[in-house]
Amino acid sequence: MAKNKGIILRSIDFKETSKIIYLITESGIRSVIVRGAKKLTGRTLFLTNSFTEIEYQAKEADLPVLTDGDLLFDFSGIRNDYLKYFFAENISAYLYLASPEVDFPLLYRLFQASLKLIDNYQDAEIISFAFEIKFLFFLGLKPELTNCVCCGNLEIAAIDVDKGGFICHLHKGSQTFDSEVALAIKELYYSKLELLKDLSLSSNVRQEIRQFISSYYQRHANFINKVTTNIRKD
Ligand SMILES: [Zn+2]
Repeated sequence: MAKNKGIILRSIDFKETSKIIYLITESGIRSVIVRGAKKLTGRTLFLTNSFTEIEYQAKEADLPVLTDGDLLFDFSGIRNDYLKYFFAENISAYLYLASPEVDFPLLYRLFQASLKLIDNYQDAEIISFAFEIKFLFFLGLKPELTNCVCCGNLEIAAIDVDKGGFICHLHKGSQTFDSEVALAIKELYYSKLELLKDLSLSSNVRQEIRQFISSYYQRHANFINKVTTNIRKD
């Protein structure tokens, strides 16, 4: 039986004593039944903990049943910090938008690297922003981040949600975010995650980036992230 690697995203109760865990793997999002999970103790408790990377075997069926699981990495920094947990949940919510055809090995690496940085590094919000913007690539929705969407002009005045990217002075409408936000979004998209710890963003720019991401996903992917909506309420 083949071994699979996966990161547990969440678990829900199933029947009397079992749970279903949802994992991202290198071949897609999977759900697996963990029999007797509500009675698990000690060594095997990790099998249903969110943000745990495991290696597992499952008996194939309509609902595969887990037969064996080993701990690979425990993102304990995330589970022990309310804000980190929030941002980890926030980025997880996007994964279900990925169609089965996307490059899951690449997406898996991006998600895993994002969790590791959220786990270790203080500024979980910036890592979350970067994931949310980089993830647009997997949906085929990457914004234009080099020149004006309308005319190709390289002198950028703003970023526009409806038009899908950078725009120049001539094409600037009312529903736009200014060039400081536009350039921050470009940096978040193109920079390696590990380098973003040197990025400093004012709270104003952060608020606008959050608004841009929410509006962009709503407009182009018809998606409202409920976790983000809760961050706003808090
Ligand atoms: Zn233009």
